[in-house]
Amino acid sequence: MASLTRSLSAICTALALVLFASITDAQTSASNSLLAQAIQSTLSRRWPPSENLSWLVLDTASGQVLAQQWPSLNDPIPVGSLTKPFLALAYARTHNTFPHALCQGTQDRCWLPKGHGTLDLEHALAQSCNAYFLALSRQIEPVALQTITQLYNLPAAPPDATPAILIGLEPTWRIAPVTLARAYTRLANQPDNHSILTGMRLATQQGTARALHAEDALAKTGTASCLDHCLASGDGLVLALTPAANPRILLLVRQHGTTGASTSIIAAQMLHALKTQNAANR
Ligand SMILES: [Zn+2]
Repeated sequence: MASLTRSLSAICTALALVLFASITDAQTSASNSLLAQAIQSTLSRRWPPSENLSWLVLDTASGQVLAQQWPSLNDPIPVGSLTKPFLALAYARTHNTFPHALCQGTQDRCWLPKGHGTLDLEHALAQSCNAYFLALSRQIEPVALQTITQLYNLPAAPPDATPAILIGLEPTWRIAPVTLARAYTRLANQPDNHSILTGMRLATQQGTARALHAEDALAKTGTASCLDHCLASGDGLVLALTPAANPRILLLVRQHGTTGASTSIIAAQMLHALKTQNAANR
């Protein structure tokens, strides 16, 4: 009889735990849904639908898209330099340390005509230096890159991709916005990626995303070839994660006809609007 009572008691406890977990999940889901509606409303009001501007906001814990205004989140697009952090990860599969490299500007295919001089990985990411990442890409083993693309659920780079393709100077390696956002979420959650995250923090303080300086964020900019509704040959991209120490929100913005550095100005305004809204909701 005692054993039957113990069994019944154990079953009741288990049922109570399942019920509690279901209620907690439902509450989390409901509050996420309210948060998503609030973000969509805030950003859509200030940045109404436009062919020139696309954006998405992702919850880094769940990978769920909270709000967005993008023609098609799952259609692969050229992403320019936003591949660079993953190239660093691929390089690190077969090397113990990141190199220093010299950028002489235009002659090394860098966007900064006079060049960046000698850079380490962190500053090369912050400045999105093409010369540094072309040099790094020449030493990436294809198998190492394949391992990283699989780990981060990114589409494989084209077969025999040149360093110029890998760093996004040519628009052949295309990645869907939501796929790219989720890969960055994974990257930001791994403490082993310290050098890369430091480079993304530096980008907001003194690099290509310095328009975000006032915001507590990690960021990477890119300028990609435009394929659709083009205003000029380039599309500016910026991806930001906030807060920097423990990112909870990811914002990806694309603006036609400009650079990633210019798009950072809009991204900074969006992050500020999200922060203000978050403070108001507390
Ligand atoms: Zn450079």
